[in-house]
Amino acid sequence: MKKHKFVFLTTAILFAAVIAGSFLAVFLSYRISAESEYSKIEFEKLQVSDPNFIEGKKYIIPGNPGYNVDTKRVLGIQSFRLPLTQSNQVINPTPEYTFTGGLTIEQLKEFLQTQLTLVLTEIAKDTDAALLEGLALENIALGQEDEFTAQANLINIGYAEVFMSNCNFYNELPITYNLTTKNYILTNTAEFKANLCAKYVPPTVPEEATCTDCTFYPADKLHRLRADYAIEVINADGVPGAQRFAVIAYSDLLDLYSAATNAGYNMRLTSAYRSYTDQQNVYEVWVQYEMGFGKSRAQAESDANSYSALPGFSEHQLGTTADISSLDCIGIETMCYSNEVFWQWLKENAHNYGFVMSYAPGKDNVTGYIYEPWHYRWIGVELATEFKHKYESRSYLAEFLRNKKLY
Ligand SMILES: [Zn+2]
Repeated sequence: MKKHKFVFLTTAILFAAVIAGSFLAVFLSYRISAESEYSKIEFEKLQVSDPNFIEGKKYIIPGNPGYNVDTKRVLGIQSFRLPLTQSNQVINPTPEYTFTGGLTIEQLKEFLQTQLTLVLTEIAKDTDAALLEGLALENIALGQEDEFTAQANLINIGYAEVFMSNCNFYNELPITYNLTTKNYILTNTAEFKANLCAKYVPPTVPEEATCTDCTFYPADKLHRLRADYAIEVINADGVPGAQRFAVIAYSDLLDLYSAATNAGYNMRLTSAYRSYTDQQNVYEVWVQYEMGFGKSRAQAESDANSYSALPGFSEHQLGTTADISSLDCIGIETMCYSNEVFWQWLKENAHNYGFVMSYAPGKDNVTGYIYEPWHYRWIGVELATEFKHKYESRSYLAEFLRNKKLY
């Protein structure tokens, strides 16, 4: 072979290889891709009425936006792009519906009454009949919101409050509205069942508290605090009367004092914390006082017991209880005008500072004490407000505390 021919051939092969390589590189880098452009289509907002939903309330089923989707198929080789096809797809929006209710609370109550009967019939199959006595649907406690957003076709609208006259306490069943069936359903029936109460049977002999913190213990004539039960107390220097009071309730006591002062009353603590021994001494003084009328010791003890507790049975041992009177009177005497008007103010306002009256008028057969308009016990603002608004008229403090079971 001649030399120049060899060179030529080699060059041609190399050249062909380079060309082929370039084509291969181009071939390997080409892509056909879909490129889409979206343009949003806003959903409509529609107003609809739902006669089965509660009057004055609304619920919203959220809408979804739609889209126009323009899709191009593009051949791209490095920076070179060649449109091949073009297509358009429309995803329709779904409107937002705002449903306005038209069912009155009375109609809802009627409806829930039927539901409650069904729930109770079901529960009755395996429940002691005595627990189901005296149940009545009384209130419907709706949430504060006027507008609900539907989730998974259900809306929780509030609670059906069922009063249990066995223990004078409310039990509750959450109310759920089903958007598909337009029905109300009472849920959590297992919890409702667990909270049913039996009629209260007082113990035949006094029981002693086992609580370590007895702040919410229903101390009464049949429920005694241990002789060694004592909580942290301080000198209530911020309020006239030279008394001691529980540390946990002292700031609320000071707030009560400020409020009373601002309202024009001269508040005094006639008696607040009394230890077991203090109570023993107080009780003995009253027994001696009654015996002064020529009564036997037994008679004097029994009579003294209607207004002064035996040691262990007094709420004063809790440290959170105070006999409150006006400085303008000698003590807790009822025939003193300043006490009378101040006690009226306390009756209306004390719960705002966490205090409630333990021995209300007309309740002596259940509390064991005559009406004591001066005797207030601290249970905290939240509980006191609940007691005042929901239970004071038909129950009494010890029963409320028994139902709450916070001890
Ligand atoms: Zn008292």
